[in-house]
Amino acid sequence: MKVAVVGAGAMGSLFGGRLAEAGQEVWLIDVWKAHVEAIRAGGLGFSERGVTRRVAVKATTEPPDAGPVDLVIVFCKHNDTAEAIRQATPLIAPETLVLTLQNGIGNVDIIKAVVPAERVVMGLTTLAAILRGPGHVEASFLGRGETYIWPVSGRVTPPVERVASAMNAARLYTEISPDVEFRIWRKLVINAGVTALSAVVPLTIGDIAAHPNAREILEATTREIVAVAQKKGIPLTYEEGIEYLWRVSAEAKTHIGSMTVDVTRGRKTEIEAINGAVVREGERLGVPTPANRFIYDLIRIIEDTYERRITGGERR
Ligand code: NAD
Repeated sequence: MKVAVVGAGAMGSLFGGRLAEAGQEVWLIDVWKAHVEAIRAGGLGFSERGVTRRVAVKATTEPPDAGPVDLVIVFCKHNDTAEAIRQATPLIAPETLVLTLQNGIGNVDIIKAVVPAERVVMGLTTLAAILRGPGHVEASFLGRGETYIWPVSGRVTPPVERVASAMNAARLYTEISPDVEFRIWRKLVINAGVTALSAVVPLTIGDIAAHPNAREILEATTREIVAVAQKKGIPLTYEEGIEYLWRVSAEAKTHIGSMTVDVTRGRKTEIEAINGAVVREGERLGVPTPANRFIYDLIRIIEDTYERRITGGERR
């Protein structure tokens, strides 16, 4: 199978690297020149459990270099999706499937504006990765990790099955799962709750989850997300949402969320696809979401004021 990963940062390199090692023809496509050049010169550095190996994989900044592929995996950040999918058109032939495993809500609609819905596949993954530098990714989730995919059309075709089996052969344990929307909204409980709050401070997931004053805030964001999901017909209960939040927070307690990485680097976050999406869906469906709105507003203030931040001062 010929695969192009559009947005070959941390997660794109993790998925692309594993698929290439499993024998698929993989193109890593990214606008970050230094990263692409490093991969071309010495392969992709791939660190896992303290061991680093080199993975031979094609890389380019120019989608036409790769030409049409069987599968495009979109793994840029939400804010870059519209531009990335527009630039990715040379990769997309009439039979090409486009898979998004990005976090949050809204990327599927952006992709559907360019790619017919019957060729769009949505999903999520519990795997995690960080970039060590140009051309070097580290798998930061030490468990087996799970990935769930589901075609937007609801029709499981042989090409969708081939994608799942290629991913399974690459140790990207993948299930074709009709309850993927339930899983996406359950994951939103984490991303809009503990991950977003840990970016306000910023702290690790474990440090924010353990703080006694965080508990009520996280219970409130969870309650609202569950109410919005239920109004959409997604059968997520508060008990399932809150149990998942505390369980994942305990399992990932040393993890630094990607929004936290963004704010510490002075970058835009994915808040629009996370708490922003909860607020917008709540408004549309008549469900109040004040706790998500509060976190959304705080992050928007943070990302709009990096240059004016007051620093320094001695602790006494
Ligand atoms: P990242 O910032 O490491 O990688 C994104 C890459 O996209 C960057 O290398 C960037 O240069 C590239 N890009 C931007 N515009 C582009 C364009 N027009 N064309 C091609 N490439 C472009 O981000 P990440 O951490 O890998 O996250 C990607 C997605 O996966 C996000 O939605 C994130 O929320 C989600 N996610 C991340 C993790 C994690 O552990 N990092 C886990 C699960 C889900």
